[in-house]
Amino acid sequence: MALNETLNNSTLTGKMPVLFVGHGNPMNAITDNSYSQSWKTIGEQLPVPNAILCISAHWLTKGTFVTMAEQPKTLHDFGGFPKELFAVQYPATGAPEYARRLISAIKSTTVQEDFAWGLDHGAWSILKNMYPNANIPVFQMSIDATKPPLYHFNLAKELFELRNQGLASGNIVHNLGILSWDGKIKAFDWALEFDAFVKKNIIDNNPIALIDYQKLGKLATLAHPSNEHYLPLLYALGLRDNTDSVQFFNEEMDLGSLSMRSVVFS
Ligand code: ZN
Repeated sequence: MALNETLNNSTLTGKMPVLFVGHGNPMNAITDNSYSQSWKTIGEQLPVPNAILCISAHWLTKGTFVTMAEQPKTLHDFGGFPKELFAVQYPATGAPEYARRLISAIKSTTVQEDFAWGLDHGAWSILKNMYPNANIPVFQMSIDATKPPLYHFNLAKELFELRNQGLASGNIVHNLGILSWDGKIKAFDWALEFDAFVKKNIIDNNPIALIDYQKLGKLATLAHPSNEHYLPLLYALGLRDNTDSVQFFNEEMDLGSLSMRSVVFS
């Protein structure tokens, strides 16, 4: 199924890029900085998709759900930020037709239709910069928070045949309990160590090490006291094809312990 109207490799193979993007601070949505600039550049470089499936760290459920709304609402799922951020709307349409295809493609579990969720900030803070015209339909699939890492990797594999542009949004290192707010510590050693571990295993195409990251013990717990921001990476890895090229961007640590490292498989 060719999901893309531009003439390039992706059209010939019918395969669209898969991205894992670190979203970090919600203010990145409306701040002109190196992160948001990279998101704009990536949006301009990638082939134009017909639809975007987003798996965000900020939609955790028991069971797996997919959004069916024709007009998903912009969710301001945070507190304590300036009113300009609450005023942001991302008026992309939904993609219920693709959501139905996703439901039929996944056989290992029953993916349930959801009409209540919209687009959370894990999705729109990035998309607002990647596709500012909001002219590409977007739908989200939730993360079943009751399941172990391997489950998420395997679930993504079932989506392979309908590889739309997939956008997974989280952060490779995410410890909000230990942040360097004053910027005195550019990056904690353990944050750099975990980030390097992820980078190496992505380059080596070794998903097992990344699924079993908890074997790193204390380093894993420091990088991810809870793992919702890590799990979206496993979806991107599950959708990776062995022939894909790998391109990193935003290879920086924000506030000492928030890796903004992002990756495109295409
Ligand atoms: Zn987040």
